[in-house]
Amino acid sequence: MIRSDGISFSYGKSEILKSLSFSAEDGECLVFAGPNGSGKSTALGIISGALKSSSGTVHANGKIGYIPQGSALLEDATVKENLRFFAKLSKSSVPETLPFSVSEYMNKKVAKLSGGMKKQVSIACALIGDPQIILLDEPCAALDITFRDELIGIIEKWKREGKTVVYVGHDPSEFYTFFDTIIFFDNPPLTVSRREIDTQTKTAEAFAEFYKDTLLNIKRK
Ligand code: ADP
Ligand code: MG
Repeated sequence: MIRSDGISFSYGKSEILKSLSFSAEDGECLVFAGPNGSGKSTALGIISGALKSSSGTVHANGKIGYIPQGSALLEDATVKENLRFFAKLSKSSVPETLPFSVSEYMNKKVAKLSGGMKKQVSIACALIGDPQIILLDEPCAALDITFRDELIGIIEKWKREGKTVVYVGHDPSEFYTFFDTIIFFDNPPLTVSRREIDTQTKTAEAFAEFYKDTLLNIKRK
């Protein structure tokens, strides 16, 4: 579970987040959507504890696993060395089962991996210590449909296990099956629940239209 009560954040004089409130229960997924630069990554940074809000608080009921937008991996080290490094950081050990096909390229240097493989390793590193809350910042950007479909399956499994997921993404087809709430980063932020979506838009296509119209409306302002 995570809960925020009106968090605000500024870089110098420029206010990035103003009184942002959200919540997600165990087994739920919260999606952050909105134009580039609207503060989605900043909000994830605050949830993770990497950034500190100027006002408001975030409550989280467990360990957090954070998959950042860029790579946080050690490029010159192998996959195995990265996993051991992150296990040491979180005072934990490398799990026996790893997601995706990470166990098949344990001895490869990260610098030699494809973008998709790096993202898989980032996810494996974030899962060390079995976090209750998982933050994913545009995990599918520039990656193929196979990766996307595999990740969708993994997120659905996390939800069944009762984990809380916060997902930043742009393409509604990525998160249509698993989101419970979407927050459109606008001023003020617009929160839309699964129930509202399901009563108004009956199909994935109708949802995509609603989603596009909402984003265009935000951009036009
Ligand atoms: P999003 O993830 O929605 O694209 P970000 O949270 O990354 O947006 O950024 C929100 C705003 O904060 C942008 O205008 C960006 O330029 C600004 N910003 C991000 N990081 C910094 C930083 N370290 N210093 C100053 N401004 C920043
Ligand atoms: Mg971002």
